[in-house]
Amino acid sequence: MGVTVSVLASGSRGNSTLVQSSATRILVDAGISCRETFKRMKAGGEDPRSLSAILITHEHSDHVCGLLVLARKLNLPVFMTAATHQAWSRAVREATGERPELARLEVFSSGCSFQIGDIAVTPFTIPHDAADPVGFTFRAEGVKIAMATDLGYVPASVCDQFRGCDLLVLESNHDLEMLRVGPYPWAVKQRVMSRVGHLSNTALAEFFATEYDGSASYIVLAHLSEQNNHPELARSAAERALGGRRTLLHNRLMLAAQAEPMQPIRL
Ligand SMILES: [Zn+2]
Ligand SMILES: [Zn+2]
Repeated sequence: MGVTVSVLASGSRGNSTLVQSSATRILVDAGISCRETFKRMKAGGEDPRSLSAILITHEHSDHVCGLLVLARKLNLPVFMTAATHQAWSRAVREATGERPELARLEVFSSGCSFQIGDIAVTPFTIPHDAADPVGFTFRAEGVKIAMATDLGYVPASVCDQFRGCDLLVLESNHDLEMLRVGPYPWAVKQRVMSRVGHLSNTALAEFFATEYDGSASYIVLAHLSEQNNHPELARSAAERALGGRRTLLHNRLMLAAQAEPMQPIRL
């Protein structure tokens, strides 16, 4: 069956992606409601009860807002770093006012690989204003996938993780000019543009033009801002930067959306 990636939702109103091998199904982030996660999985022909685990990148609500309900309903193990767990449990409260408990919490450390079923997961640190934010690479059945959204810039250590990938899911958050003239308050604009904010179309294009090794069959542009970006701006910036590297078999460019799941990508 091979490895399949389905972006269920992507953007500042919720992020969730399904990564699956023939034997294992991992949900990366639970940033849409449990109900919406079920709906989107079922629409793609996937059974939510077949999930093996939930992996969390960081504690911002667009990545965790469905977590507690989803983890409980399906009795799933939840993997996150200790600092992310601490930040999450400080921010979330039960209806009773108590701190939430995850029955099957699994703590990992950035930089230390681990296995979920037949998928090898490597978490790596990304620059973002959360407690301990990470991106992931996944290896299974001879395929490598990298996912990194919510990062202010692409450090060399992150570039290294993107080498030799068959699929890249990368943030193309905003168009700098749209952000500059857009409706956000100045403090928020500064946060988004900072080294621990979000990646602009231009910054991602810079990565493609300079550091990218051209290995991926598919590139997914993700976490696009609805206020400060336009899918065609993100696409054209990436296309220009990829330039002559685009071939029929490599670097096929796709865009993840907020409102609806993407077609599953089979590797
Ligand atoms: Zn986010
Ligand atoms: Zn974030």
